[in-house]
Amino acid sequence: MKEASTPKIKKDLRQLEAFAKKQGAVVAKGIPVGKVVTDERVYYKCMYGCPLYGSSKMCPPNTPRPQDFERALRKYSWGVLVKTRPHKINDIVVEVEKRAFSMGYYLALGLRGGPCPLCKECTEPAEPCRHPEKARPSMEALGIDVFATLKNARIPAELKKDTEEEWFFHGLILVE
Ligand code: SF4
Repeated sequence: MKEASTPKIKKDLRQLEAFAKKQGAVVAKGIPVGKVVTDERVYYKCMYGCPLYGSSKMCPPNTPRPQDFERALRKYSWGVLVKTRPHKINDIVVEVEKRAFSMGYYLALGLRGGPCPLCKECTEPAEPCRHPEKARPSMEALGIDVFATLKNARIPAELKKDTEEEWFFHGLILVE
């Protein structure tokens, strides 16, 4: 992990938070990556019990194994956690990633909560993704314990309510 907060990264995180909110995030918070909690049990919850397991290239078993992702994750120092309505999460994650890239964070990487929503049906295994510029992997698929991470970041987390209007989805944009 790099040296703790420099004034530049703090200023840039504030800019990214404001940008995410402008895109529709209810909450956007810059956090040290040390607050991101990983747990292989999350991957197993995808594997056993999720009806969407294997349904897209952004879910297991088509995503990197959590232990492989963990190595990449721990090379980042800062990220931005976002919270919003389900239909907005993908766009916000991708737009914040693009903004971070344009600010010089060329390794910025966006992750979203939940399955890929971009096509009614994903392409066949041997075919490429139809929207590689927009499709980002599920945090859970990569072994991120989203609830524990939100708790660590002091962001209130709710389990799914009855209607989509009451749900929140989360995303994490790894910045540098
Ligand atoms: S964008 Fe479409 S093709 Fe690509 S992973 Fe998502 S569902 Fe599959």
